[in-house]
Amino acid sequence: MKPVMVATWNFGVKAVSKGMDILLSGGSALDAVEEGIKVVEDDLEVLSVGLGGLPNVEGEVELDASIMDGGTLRCGAVGALKDIRHPISVARKVMELTPHVLLVGEGALKFALRCGFKRERFWKPGSRERWEEMLENLRKGKYEVESFYGRVWKAVGGLWKETVSAVALDAKGCMAAGNSTTGLFMKMPGRVGDSAVIGAGLYVDNRVGGAVTTGTGEVAINYCLSKRVCDLMASGLNPKEACEKAIAETLYRRNFDGGIAVLALNNKGEVGAAHSLKEFVYAYQDGGMDKPELRKVERFSGC
Ligand code: ASP
Repeated sequence: MKPVMVATWNFGVKAVSKGMDILLSGGSALDAVEEGIKVVEDDLEVLSVGLGGLPNVEGEVELDASIMDGGTLRCGAVGALKDIRHPISVARKVMELTPHVLLVGEGALKFALRCGFKRERFWKPGSRERWEEMLENLRKGKYEVESFYGRVWKAVGGLWKETVSAVALDAKGCMAAGNSTTGLFMKMPGRVGDSAVIGAGLYVDNRVGGAVTTGTGEVAINYCLSKRVCDLMASGLNPKEACEKAIAETLYRRNFDGGIAVLALNNKGEVGAAHSLKEFVYAYQDGGMDKPELRKVERFSGC
């Protein structure tokens, strides 16, 4: 089987490049997804993923991540995790070492430390400045809505919503999906987004394919978006049709302000995506290519 990997946004190129090195040397989809995402978590230029990125409204970085194995349907996730450089790897340990699926906050941190991860704290260049600038704007009352958090929400709407979300198909036909994010910039402390919620931020099943999301996590959670896309693919739609139908459903009800993107790869190696964001790109590489290419997706015409 020809391996394939896809990952969200421009930085997805780095994730896919690393992941495909693993897949092309016979490695597993699960390793490709984890190692690919780690590259983006480590990237000092990416402020929306990884420790040191854009913080919550109180200046604390709270990280969400999850990973899923399409063969066994086993999965692991962490939410609002502080001070750990590779939340995707902690999510994998949750999957492999515990009887649970999701650990959050203090508990997730304790678990990570017990697994041997190091506690660290730093700001990626530019992250603290952006937080301070946003606070200053809020202090000046530049945004007029009733509550403080309401103002924050309006102020940051559309900014810095970029999770690294990846799906891989390996040479044995096994699939995996994963994602990692700082979550929405200036979110409320304790807010956990779609990236930690299985079925919302990701879902994958070898018998069908996988899907991952990025954008306003509340929308993905509300519509169980990744699972919805996998179900639509299982009913016979190709990945593009499945993504478009699922996005159309979110737009029909519009329960939350904010756009969302969903990216899917089926078990035949076919890819599709749809979104209601201003713009969306993803990285793609299959076994016949020597490097990833970036693909732009037009905003869903039903928006
Ligand atoms: N989906 C993420 C969240 O809501 C944000 C993003 O994709 O950047 O936490």
